[in-house]
This record gives sequence, C-alpha cells and structure tokens, in this order.
Amino acid sequence: MNKTELNSLTLEESKVYMMNIGEKGYRGEQLFQYFNKHLNLNLNELKQLPKETRNKLKEVGKVNEIEILERFDSKIDSTKKYLYLLDDKNIVESVLMEYKHGFTTCISTQVGCKMGCTFCASTKNGFIRDLTPAEMLNQIYMMEKDNNIKINNIVLMGSGEPLDNYDNTLKFINIIHEEKGHNISLRNITLSSCGVVPKIYDLAKENLPITLSISLHSPFDAKRAKIMPIAKRYSINELMNACKFYGDSTNRRLTFEYTLIEDENDGEKEAIELAKLLKNINAHINLIPLNSIKEFSKDRPDKKSIEKFKDSLEKKGLRVTIRREMGSDISASCGQLRRSYLENKLQ
Ligand code: SF4
Repeated sequence: MNKTELNSLTLEESKVYMMNIGEKGYRGEQLFQYFNKHLNLNLNELKQLPKETRNKLKEVGKVNEIEILERFDSKIDSTKKYLYLLDDKNIVESVLMEYKHGFTTCISTQVGCKMGCTFCASTKNGFIRDLTPAEMLNQIYMMEKDNNIKINNIVLMGSGEPLDNYDNTLKFINIIHEEKGHNISLRNITLSSCGVVPKIYDLAKENLPITLSISLHSPFDAKRAKIMPIAKRYSINELMNACKFYGDSTNRRLTFEYTLIEDENDGEKEAIELAKLLKNINAHINLIPLNSIKEFSKDRPDKKSIEKFKDSLEKKGLRVTIRREMGSDISASCGQLRRSYLENKLQ
C-alpha cells in the first residue's frame, strides 16, 4: 500500500484526509499546523492528538524528513549553502542569503533537471525525479531551525524546472503561504522558469501574485537554442506572448534573468533586441555575470563591459539590476555543490 505523505498535504487536504480515516476535520488542521507552524515532524510528540489517532496516522501515512548532509558557510558574507540527503539517498541543494530586509532562500524543485541548459551544473547528471511538496518545505524549515530564523523570501531557482513539476510546486506554494501555517506572502515568492510556455499560461490562470522570473539569456532564437534546448521547442516570440499574458492577467512585473557571457550575448545588438522584445511587458532585467562551471568553457565579461551593457539597456528605457554575488567562495551557481559532491563520491 502506498502511504500518503502527510506533510505534503494542504490544509484542506489534511482535513479531508482526517475525515476519510474516521477522525474529525479539525484534527487535520492540528496536523497541518504541527508540520507547518511548529515545524515538528515527530508524530510521537503530537500530543494534541489521541494516541490511537497518532498510531492510525503512522499506519496509513508517512512523514517526509530530510537531513542536512553538509553545510558550507561563506567567509565573505553570511551566505550558507546546504546539501540535503533525501529519504531515498538522493541529494539536493539550497542556499540561504541574508539581506538588509531579511532572509532569502533559493531551493530546489527537482533532483537534477531535464532542461539541459549548457551553463548549468544541475542538469549535467540528468534528471532523477521530482521533489514532493514536503521535500521543498523541508529545505526551508531545516534552514530556519538550523539558524533559528524566519525566512522572508523564497526563490524557486535551485536545481530543477519548477513548471516541469507543476502540481507539486503549486501545492508547495499553497502550503507555505497558508495563513494558519507558515504564512509567507505570495508576493515574497519568485518562481524561476526556463520558459515552458504552456505552463506559463496555466500559471497565469491560477492568478497568484507571485513573481515569475524567466531565464532568457539571449533575445535571438538561434543563439538561445544553443545554450537552452527549451528554445528549440518554443520560440522567443511564443515565450514573450506567454509572458505578456502572465503580466496582463496577474498585474505583476516579470523578471528576466540574463546571464552575461563574454562575446556571446553582451553586445549592442542584443541590447537593441532586448528593448524591442520587452517594450510591451512590465519587465525588470536581472543581469547575472556568468558563474563558470568546468563543463562550459566561457567567461563572464569584465566589469566595464557589464556596466556598459547595463547602461545601454537603461538608455533604452529598461529597468535593470546586476545580481549581487553572494557566497562566491562556496561554489556558487545551482547544482555545483551536488555535482562536486557526487563526483568526489564516485572517485
Ligand atoms: S538553468 Fe534551470 S532549467 Fe536550465 S538546466 Fe539548470 S536547473 Fe534546469
């Protein structure tokens, strides 16, 4: 019998689940709060429930737990990177960053990734599996408990394509946002996608005020397809139509991530084309100087060229920031830690 993962249930599902096993609905709320407000996963300590109910739950359900395998603390700033061991021995990573306005985390949504972006370490060992909602929640709850903090902002930009794990990602958002649980504002959640066009339309229809962040990296189809295989499936034109639909339906500004690669996508012709593409979209461009990985033999442009590209975009009326580098001494970009850990294990 497949056991239900109890800490992957939304508040409503938890109530229904309890009723289905012959308990009162409010017991579902107690269970939900135990996981998502009190961050306790040990059913034995859930004394609000009668012993028989706890035993019944243990029989028909299971609680997902993950372990901190390693933690890397930056010596430059207060960034921390976590490698987590999942219950099937797979590994995922997350990052905790401290800003003036509070704590932000970047978490993974899949083990590995099938999207194949050439500059990304997460995809180099292929796709293993989707993460469950509880596995996403646990990445956050473990960091909060480890540091005795409350996280204010969540970015789904670690390993994996969140829109390729659509149902679990939406459930995760529902649970973490629930007022009676962790109560994180939807406005403080950013979902980053490489551009799975049909799913952007689906997400727009959910009408959630989360921020959608699109990895663009080039305004030209052929060049984009060279570094992002998804661009062979959906043209930039199709992607922009979906983004416009998203912005118009949700009234939210979209972020476009643009990794700057020396002599690849940092020229004036790219700036001109970007301005054309984004002129009807409420957009913000986030420039990310390339974080080199050894499988991708390109460099980031020098500081002067990065500033020049930013100026050029701003002169064309675009809103632009350059991403501040955090924890650059602890294997920065997504997937690098997991990959180097796996490589060392295999040697
Ligand atoms: S950049 Fe994102 S979508 Fe592309 S391979 Fe990496 S994790 Fe997947």
